[in-house]
Amino acid sequence: MSAPVAFCPQCHSEVAFIHEGSSRRCPICGFTFQTGLGVGERYSPPISSDAFGSILRIVVIFVLIVLAIGAMGLGLLYIGCSHMSF
Ligand SMILES: [Zn+2]
Repeated sequence: MSAPVAFCPQCHSEVAFIHEGSSRRCPICGFTFQTGLGVGERYSPPISSDAFGSILRIVVIFVLIVLAIGAMGLGLLYIGCSHMSF
């Protein structure tokens, strides 16, 4: 009878999302999100981009860890130098 309405996080209103394969789209603001249900058969994302995303995530985490260690090292070095000079 009536389409199931859901709360849209982007336009903050109760809308009937339009089903587009494995994703749903807000008819008001165009906000799109993946449902995660029945993904695979109808919608086949390129594996390379998925792998690229996971690699990118690992690289970002690695860079953050390196930066954190670098910052700690610089901090220790700075403390050491200030102790030396005074
Ligand atoms: Zn919306």
